[in-house]
Formats: sequence, C-alpha cells, structure tokens
Amino acid sequence: MKIIKVALDVPLATLFDYRHDAATELDVGCRVVVPFGKKRLVGVIMETADSSSVTSGRLKTAFDVLRDSPRLEESDLELLRFASHYYHYPLGAAVMGSLPPQLRRPRPPPSSRKNARGAAPAAELPTASSAPTLTPEQERALSTVLADPNRFQSHLVLGVTGSGKTEIYLQAIAAVLAAGRQALLLVPEISLTPQLETLVRARFPGMRVVALHSALSEHERTVNWLAAQSGHARVVLGTRLAVFAPMPRLGIIIIDEEHDASFKQTDRFRYSARDIAVVRASRVGVPVVLGSATPSLESYFNAVNGRYRLSTLTQRIGAPLPSIECVDTRGERLEDGLSARLRQALDEYVARGEQSLVFINRRGYAPVLMCHSCGWISGCHRCSAKLVLHLGERRLRCHHCGHAAAIPQACADCGNPQLAPMGQGTQRVEGALSQRYGKSGVLRIDRDSVRPRDAWNVMRRRIHGGEAKILVGTQILAKGHDFPNLNLVGVLNADSLLYSADFRAPERLLALLTQVSGRAGRGGTQGKVLIQTEFPEHSLYDALKRQDYRAFAELLLAERREAAFPPFTHQALLRAEAPRLQTALEFLRGAIVAARDIANLVTLYDPVPAAMPRRAGRERAQLLVQCESRSRLQQFLGEWCRKLEGRSSSARWIIDVDPLEL
Ligand code: ADP
Ligand code: ZN
Ligand code: ZN
Repeated sequence: MKIIKVALDVPLATLFDYRHDAATELDVGCRVVVPFGKKRLVGVIMETADSSSVTSGRLKTAFDVLRDSPRLEESDLELLRFASHYYHYPLGAAVMGSLPPQLRRPRPPPSSRKNARGAAPAAELPTASSAPTLTPEQERALSTVLADPNRFQSHLVLGVTGSGKTEIYLQAIAAVLAAGRQALLLVPEISLTPQLETLVRARFPGMRVVALHSALSEHERTVNWLAAQSGHARVVLGTRLAVFAPMPRLGIIIIDEEHDASFKQTDRFRYSARDIAVVRASRVGVPVVLGSATPSLESYFNAVNGRYRLSTLTQRIGAPLPSIECVDTRGERLEDGLSARLRQALDEYVARGEQSLVFINRRGYAPVLMCHSCGWISGCHRCSAKLVLHLGERRLRCHHCGHAAAIPQACADCGNPQLAPMGQGTQRVEGALSQRYGKSGVLRIDRDSVRPRDAWNVMRRRIHGGEAKILVGTQILAKGHDFPNLNLVGVLNADSLLYSADFRAPERLLALLTQVSGRAGRGGTQGKVLIQTEFPEHSLYDALKRQDYRAFAELLLAERREAAFPPFTHQALLRAEAPRLQTALEFLRGAIVAARDIANLVTLYDPVPAAMPRRAGRERAQLLVQCESRSRLQQFLGEWCRKLEGRSSSARWIIDVDPLEL
C-alpha cells in the first residue's frame, strides 16, 4: 500500500494521509485532489510512505494527481517547511497559500500557449534603454554585490534617496541574466509605481519580465507564476508574496526599501518576506541585496556587525539633497493646518510654476467629528477607533473595519446640532488649498482617490503635464516616484507619529520623512522641505535635517541595547482574540501556566490588551515573549504551540514571530 502525505489548506498543523497505490517519489511536489469531509480539496503531496498511522478502514483514497502544472521542487518545499516551522504556522496552509489562487482549486490552469498572449504587458510597450555609466560609489557597490555570484552573501546598500540604488539593482540583474539565471526583485508596492516595471522591461527587452502581486487578475497571477516556475520568466518583480515563487535558476534576490513594513504579512501567516528572502538566498547559495535610505535597525545592525556587507552611497545623482527645515508651530494659529511659513513658500513655488507636495498622514476630511457641548466624539462601535469624516461622500468611515455611517444631524448624546470636525485630513487640506490656488491646480492622492480603476494613470498625467501645482497626499506618495518638477515638500502632522507607544515609532518616522523629503528636487534644482513641528529640537528632526541616518541609527541602537529590545533580543507575540476581552486575557493567562516548565531562559510578560483592543467586533489581547537566543526562543515556541493546541478555549490565537506591531 502506498501512502501520500498531503498539505491541505486547513488550520491544522499536520499533513493528511491518503492512499494512492500508484504513487512514486516523483509525485512529491505535485498537486492532488483528495476527499476531505464532504468536499474535494486540492493539496500538495509533501511525502510518500509505505504505511500510515491512520487505521486502514478510515484511510481514504486520493482522487487524482494533477499533471496540468509542473511539480514543486524539493527546494521549494524545503523553503515552505522552514517558513512554516519558523513562524509556527500550519504547513498545509503555508504551502497552499504560496500557490496562485487558481492552482488551489481543482480546475485546470490556463494552458501555457494561451499564456504567452495573455501575459503581454498590459501597460505601455517600453522602448529599450541602455544603462548609464555608474558613479564611482555605484561602481564600488555593484562590484561588492557581484564579487562572488555563486555564494550566499547578504548585502546592505545604504544610499540616500536618489543616489542610484535602482541602477545598481538593474546592473546586478543584468549580470545575473547574462549568466543564464533568474532574478527576483521584491518591492513594497507595485500597483502605484508602474515606472519601475516599465524601467525593468525597457532595460531587458529580450527577456521575459513578470510581475507578481495581489492586484493582478487571478489568470495573470497564475500565468506569471508558472513562467517563474518554468524558468521562462527571467525577472520576477513582485511584492512580498513573490518570495515563495519557484525559480529554478535563481541567481540573485533584491529587496528594495527593505525597511518597509509591508514585507511583513500582518494576518494569518505572519512571515517577513525580507527575512525569508535572506534564508532562501542562503539555501540556494546566491547573493541577496537589501536596499534602503533608512534600513531597518535589524538590517543596519547586521551590517555594522559584519554579517551583511555594507555599501554606502552618499551622493545624490544630478541634484543636491534637499534642504530640510523645521517650522516651529508652537504658539502659531495654523490656517487649515498650514503655517504662515508654508503658505508663503507655496505661494512662491506656485508663482514660479514649480510643483509642491503637502504631506499629511491622514486621509478623509477630519480624523474625528466632535460635539463641543458634551464632548461626544464619533467612534466606531466595532473597533476601539474613531470614525473619520469623509465629506465628499458625506459619510463617517472606520479605517479599520470599513464600517460606514451617515453623518449625524445632531449630537446623539445632547442634541447639539453643531458638530465640529476636529483636525486635518487630506480632503480638508485639499479644500483649503483649492480655495487659495484654484481647484484644478490641486490634486489629492490617497487611498480613496486612487481607488477607481485607472485613476492613478489619469493623475500621473496631470502631475507630469504640470497641470497639478500642488499635490496633497499620504504616504502612498512617498514611495519610489520621480516627479521631476516637484521642488517643495511640506509635512503637516509629523509629531503625531513621534510619540507612540511602539518602540519602533522613531525609526519608522525617520524612514517616512526621509522618503517624503526625497521626493523634492529630483529634476536638477535643490528641493526644499518644510516640516511643521512643535518639537523642532528633537534628535530625529536633527538627524533628518543633516540627512545623517547613521548617526540616528547609532543613537537608536544604543537605546535598544539599553532596553534589551530587538535587535539585541528576539521577540514573539502570542495574540489572542475573542468576543470578550476577558476570554482572550484568560486564554493568555492559561498560556503562561502552560509555559511554566518549558520557558527556560525565555521571558514572558503579562498579558495585555492590544494597542487597539477592539477590532471589527472582536477583542484582542497579547502576550510578549522575549529571549536573547533565537534558537532557544524557537524551541520554546514549538513546545508551547503543541501545549496550546491541546487547550480548549473560545479564543482564537496565533503566534507572531518577530512582530513589527506591538
Ligand atoms: P534611488 O533608487 O537611490 O532613489 P535612482 O536609482 O532612482 O535612485 O536614481 C535616481 C536618478 O538618477 C534616476 O533618474 C536614475 O535614472 C538616475 N541615475 C542613476 N544612476 C545614474 C548614473 N550612473 N548616471 C546618470 N544617472 C543616473
Ligand atoms: Zn453633545
Ligand atoms: Zn471599525
């Protein structure tokens, strides 16, 4: 009797045995259709065996091994096994989640001949471009990266914005392609930065370049994934999910903006694509390149302690770095959030026909609606969060659960008909600027305004055509765009991000402000950045003004060492949620008891409600676990998980390894 052990997308940390008498070793990695309860499910064969611990009466027989797509290689399965083990997430769910959605279902995938046409780039067909001559700094970084292409080495390319990091990636990719291999380029977000895809296609006209991200149609995603797996796609450009794409001839992995939090998945399978990429490169034995102007402290620490090779780029190409200035707003009455200094600067730049960007970290009209007679504020009944006023669509919206409500005519508590919007959002600033400079010259760019299909393309035309004089936007504008005529950046509510309970807040804020500032002055003239703040002496703004990431990083590292925070320790969170907070907290208290005999040199903290305890009607709590040794923490988590799996509680729980949000 032949048994296959199958990974299925079910929340159980086990493989499932099925009888399949024709099975051979060659079936490992194949997709298979099996009966599961009353359903037919697709799974992946992870192993074969000659016997099963399931009694033969209860052992079911597999339906079909699917031969319509190539099987996963042992190295692909190994990476998934590692990820499942490291993140304590069920192997079946991890394996199936790595496949494009169409391959998780029993229907056959599109045939590969049809594919070639289906996969023709929908966007502009770029003309071929050639590589510029590298600057000496770029040259040094590139030769470091390419020093030993057949050996694993992590590289950190720390380069100020506009220093030509992308050009280094492209030339490194060119070398890998010339050697007949494939390149994987991971970026935080693609759908809003189509320039990069255009750039890559233009640079490698004879090569198949495919994108992998969640905004693709299911069909495109399958086709592109299969092209990566077959080796036909020579460059894979993707978001975090692409880190698992099978690539038989992988020669390099590059992670742009490696500090970006979007590389970590924040629900279910909480993997870090950046960290998986490093593991993957080490297993394949190829270089991995992490690039950023403001690396995560974890990566920076690895670079200064010699585990990663550090290349620095200190010069911006073609223009000096922008001059950055704090505008002290203490004691000033702001007009619609704008200081006199910023208003005057905007006047000047508009008069000169140069573009400006007003950055505000909040979409909507105002973050909250308030009653001044009784203190009522618009809250979401499903979340511990406020409802944001969206004036355009005349609704209050929760940005966490999507709940929407009509704007009340009067205060629900005291009847006061004069409810006031408090604070600024992008819509309000857009409105104020439109009054000053005319509606057609002001363009708002946030998640709401780019949502309609093709909206972003229309906006790009208005930006590049010069029609838009002032852009008002959130951080979606901070990433990877090149606006050649944009010379002034104003930042409105930076302080709100400065003092947060999360120990990573300053690191994140520096990264965000550096990126936003980096939009200014890319077209040859020096840009200007005005940051409105009530804390102009704060060391973070000081570092930003001097554009000295390393000085600030050293400061933060010293604090982290003192407080025994990462990267000087390793963390995991046990997250629990339930309809009642008490249930979640009780589960966590029980988890501490369960840890008693196994928590050798592992510190467990008291269970606490999450930073936002209620979300979409569920109450959430968490328990922090810390250990200096990663392997000891891992061993503990494995044993702890097994104990927790046996407990019955109405709380749902998950382990978040290397959490980014505490
Ligand atoms: P980064 O990724 O570091 O922000 P980019 O790679 O986008 O920087 O480079 C900034 C600008 O400089 C781009 O317009 C790019 O085409 C240009 N550039 C990069 N390297 C060179 C070079 N060696 N010579 C001329 N222009 C370059
Ligand atoms: Zn009231
Ligand atoms: Zn809500």
